[in-house]
Amino acid sequence: MAEGVRCRIAPAPTGYLHVGNARAALYNWLFARHHGGTFVLRIEDTDRKRSTEEAVGIVMESLRWLGLDWDEGPEVEGPYGPYRQSDRMDLYRTATERLLSDGRAYFCYCTPQELEDRRRAALQRGETPGYDGRCRNLSEEQRRSREAAGHPRAVRFAMPGIDITVHDLIRGEAHFPANDLRDFVILRSDGTPTYLLAAAVDDVEMRMTHVIRGEDLLPSTPRQLQLIEALGTPEPPLYGHLPLIVGPNGQPLSKRHGAVAVEGFRKQGYLPEALVNYLALLGWSYDAKTTFFSREELIEKFDLSRVSHNPAAFDPQKLEWMNGHYLREAEDSRLAELLIAELLHDGVAADPITVAAAVPLVKERMRTVIEGASMLRFLFAEEVNPDQKAAKMLGPDRQELLREAASRLEAVEEWRTGEIERVLRRLQQDSGLSAKQAFQPIRAAVTGTLVSPPLFESLELLGRDRTLGRIRAAAGL
Ligand code: GLU
Repeated sequence: MAEGVRCRIAPAPTGYLHVGNARAALYNWLFARHHGGTFVLRIEDTDRKRSTEEAVGIVMESLRWLGLDWDEGPEVEGPYGPYRQSDRMDLYRTATERLLSDGRAYFCYCTPQELEDRRRAALQRGETPGYDGRCRNLSEEQRRSREAAGHPRAVRFAMPGIDITVHDLIRGEAHFPANDLRDFVILRSDGTPTYLLAAAVDDVEMRMTHVIRGEDLLPSTPRQLQLIEALGTPEPPLYGHLPLIVGPNGQPLSKRHGAVAVEGFRKQGYLPEALVNYLALLGWSYDAKTTFFSREELIEKFDLSRVSHNPAAFDPQKLEWMNGHYLREAEDSRLAELLIAELLHDGVAADPITVAAAVPLVKERMRTVIEGASMLRFLFAEEVNPDQKAAKMLGPDRQELLREAASRLEAVEEWRTGEIERVLRRLQQDSGLSAKQAFQPIRAAVTGTLVSPPLFESLELLGRDRTLGRIRAAAGL
């Protein structure tokens, strides 16, 4: 490895950055940073129908938000570019021509219908379906007649027809019987390369030393290794496959399980460092006890030998809990900015001074920025619309309590937390109610919810007039 470690993330820009791809990006990035190597971003957009420019933007934005900067790739470029497959079509055609002229690939004239019919027939006979090699041994004459008839032709790679063992950096040896490794298409009849070819050519051309990717791609590896060898590469990359990420039911994580896109987590109010820490532990561990890792610690400690072979269960609650931890660690000013942005997103133009004063009240309680923002909304609302639980606290039997609260609070001289607390605690004692019975109606009246920052502080922040107005309204005054 004369050049040192070179590894990559190669997303297909067809939507959002899925957590599976984000984790693969993170592990590659950590691996590159740990070894002082190079992390490459390659956009695999050969599927022109499904790839969009918008998705390319989202992928890059999500990686940047996670702090996974790439040393080579779109926008930064580098010595082995271009880094979008749609700009590299000539390379794939050249490679295909070479494989054709070396006899490692051949033209295939089978139509999709013929392939499907033969697949069904093979299944009926109880055989493993897969390309049967029909066009591999066409005579020159058969070939010419198909050409003359103008049959569309794809190019297939000729597999050696032997069992193949892949040495995986994470999983050890993986065995593939020859029967599962049939000749496969590398160039479609419309001239576009398949993933198998494009990724293999690029991994060679971009001088990848390591290919670290999801386990779903393990079946591609023996094929791509054959391609890479056929292309005459002296030192193929080393491969490592990351365990599958599964949902609570053990099935591969998908949208059915809730948010699965980095962008979605960002919108839900997660901090990037929480997601990075969480994803780092989704298939890797340092020891049995350490849960929190800074970015620097991850770079220092990450290594492939501690990546698990077993599926990693995505646990949204653990992520939320971890996010709560990072929110408590975050600077108040950063939280204030995030809360203001979130409130604004929700149509609330929050006054920054009030938000700054409120941050310490919600910091300990919020698990996401969205949750924090929703706890602060009452400070900026014109009027209170109690939610269902709050409304239950505002029945006719609470009106007297609320009236009494309004009249005692009106007499408070200095509108400060301490003074407010003193007055309301006295009211509670006099009323003979428990703290909960006495204070929940006040909280409901003032904030419209039962989940709010600490009550007395909230009243101070809201101010005397608005507090009294709300309590009186709830008391039917
Ligand atoms: N483009 C592939 C994907 O998004 C990844 C290919 C690879 O890592 O080899 O799943």
